[in-house]
Amino acid sequence: MGFFRDWRRKRTLKSARLDETLWKRVAAKLSFLRGLSEEDTDRLKQLVVLFLAEKEMHGAHGLQLTDEVRLSIAAQACLPILNLGLDVYQGWVGVVVYPGEFRVQKEEVDEDGVVHSFEEELAGEAWPGGPVILSWEDVGIAERGYNVVIHEFAHKIHMDGGGDADYPAARDGMDASAWRKTLKEGYDRFCAEVDSGEPTFIDPYAAEHPAEFFAVMSEAFFTESAVLARDWPELYAQLALFYKQDPAAGSM
Ligand SMILES: [Zn+2]
Repeated sequence: MGFFRDWRRKRTLKSARLDETLWKRVAAKLSFLRGLSEEDTDRLKQLVVLFLAEKEMHGAHGLQLTDEVRLSIAAQACLPILNLGLDVYQGWVGVVVYPGEFRVQKEEVDEDGVVHSFEEELAGEAWPGGPVILSWEDVGIAERGYNVVIHEFAHKIHMDGGGDADYPAARDGMDASAWRKTLKEGYDRFCAEVDSGEPTFIDPYAAEHPAEFFAVMSEAFFTESAVLARDWPELYAQLALFYKQDPAAGSM
């Protein structure tokens, strides 16, 4: 199985060509890619070619997916796995892209056991073992520190890679208790900052749940790495071990 996959990937890399002009146009809008070395950029492009060959992207609500949209999403989805490999995204194929925020029906059970159903507007959603859903309008926002693609793919890495509902499992070679302790203390510190009413540099949505804290901090790790390394050094160091990248200092 692994052999066949390797063989197929080699064949894909031989036959598929990345449109360099289009890549330059897409990369120009993703400022956080500028810190990558030439070698890392080449490896990212290879991952993107394989990602586009192995995943299926669909536009919803009439959205036509241009090559530029597909390439942009693939580039952002592959950045977190640059040193982890595409197999992290194994077991599912779909990426659904809506033109803007999309409505989902949610249900919540309250303390008395009463089920409340309500509609929610989302910019992105990820399903364990299932598709990633994105709002193209929100992908386009991609300002520093905010990145819906990295956010949802961080959830995928978490959901499909072990761990519990709060935090992903540490990688082999990491100190699992230091990883968990740093995330937990970071989450508590961040919730206290949000509660104090002071404006936070990190999106306050990170206070919603430990899993959101991980996803939002992953966005900052890749798109505002220097600020995260300065303000959250322990967390930055743990994320660098987890993703096997050191974007604040160039790739490891
Ligand atoms: Zn989320």
